[in-house]
Amino acid sequence: MNDTICAISTALGVGAISIIRVSGDEAIDIVNKIFDKDLTKKESHTINYGHIVYNGEIIDEVMVSIMKSPKTFTKEDIVEINSHGGVAVTNKVLEILLLEGARLAEPGEFTKRAFLNGRIDLVEAESIMDLIESKTETSRKLAISGMEGKVSKLVKNIIDNLVKVNANIEVNIDYPEYEDIEIVTKEKIEEMSKYINKELTKLLNESENGKLIKDGINTLILGRPNVGKSSILNKLIEEDKAIVTSVAGTTRDIVEGQIRVNGILLNIIDTAGVRETEDIVEKIGVEKSLSLVNDADLIILVFNNNEKLTDEDKKLLEYTKEKKRIIVINKIDLENNLDISNLKNERIVKISALKDSGIESLKNEINDMFNLEEINLGDFTYLSNSRQISLVKKAVEISKNLEDALNNDVPIDLLEIDIKE
Ligand code: GDP
Repeated sequence: MNDTICAISTALGVGAISIIRVSGDEAIDIVNKIFDKDLTKKESHTINYGHIVYNGEIIDEVMVSIMKSPKTFTKEDIVEINSHGGVAVTNKVLEILLLEGARLAEPGEFTKRAFLNGRIDLVEAESIMDLIESKTETSRKLAISGMEGKVSKLVKNIIDNLVKVNANIEVNIDYPEYEDIEIVTKEKIEEMSKYINKELTKLLNESENGKLIKDGINTLILGRPNVGKSSILNKLIEEDKAIVTSVAGTTRDIVEGQIRVNGILLNIIDTAGVRETEDIVEKIGVEKSLSLVNDADLIILVFNNNEKLTDEDKKLLEYTKEKKRIIVINKIDLENNLDISNLKNERIVKISALKDSGIESLKNEINDMFNLEEINLGDFTYLSNSRQISLVKKAVEISKNLEDALNNDVPIDLLEIDIKE
């Protein structure tokens, strides 16, 4: 594994500088072969001005950082070449490094080495990807908290507890003559199991917040044609992304937009009007929107204030009754013909997309529904990664097995298996 890897670490394109990173035992020697100053004599953690020279030709004027093992990201020697930005220069430097004996890094390989060399744990490695991909200030905070190891610390206490109890059980079994070692009783295991179950369940419940911060709220605007879905999307995202016309069924395909509400990303999808239709293009759009209902975290169901509730409206109410939804009564600038007295226990917001009135109330309602303010005040120690969440779920299940086993009077040495798992 000790071969020396290199890669372009910045986005490839026109920019002021690019960074080409080299990591491994030979990092300094390889770059030294193409740099016009002697890098082997430089101190660690210094940045050095010079030129990349190959076959007597100056390739670029650069700054080269040297970071010697072990205080580096990968715990290996790292050299970073800051070249001028641009595709040709950056690729040329990379090409020369490859010719001089470095190997092209695979995607994520620097982070993989950091993980394998014990510099970071898996949660921290995953957080680095999350940080790079974060689109909002809130998701950035979440990722940084993961990178700093806050999430890892959360589970570390639990793991320490388990390891201690298990070690204790093993000593009790293997060395019954040791009288000064505490005997692990079933009561003690039960107490531990309850504590772990409680902590992990709390972690799981809060992970919903983590997922909201990371992935945003998938919001679907639903309603029959011409109720004003596209107009609402445009007002929400404050740009004319969806085409608005007064011909029924003009939003032929799905239009998406993103806004931030209290730092949380709202991924909004406007669908073709849901109704029976002969038009094949529209029909595809319609079917797509029905399947989208299942994937949505939030449905904004739109009715027209100017018209009576139709059978289609009722179908949509029925179809989305299990989902988190907000009912938006649009066109309140027109005469009221809509009777909503039958709609009980619903979140209802009245707006006029045309007159730009009530849009703020809609955002406030979303804010309220998902407790966004509270999420933002939290300490961002949430699980947000599906792999991590599924592992915690599994651990909760096992802790339940443990409790069942205790209730069934299973001998302690057998309980050890569950604890280990
Ligand atoms: P969609 O088919 O549900 O996406 O509806 P559109 O957004 O395309 O709007 C259909 C028609 O209703 C357009 O002519 C809009 O200008 C109009 N409309 C949308 N919102 C309002 C509103 O609040 N008041 C009035 N009077 N007309 C509106």
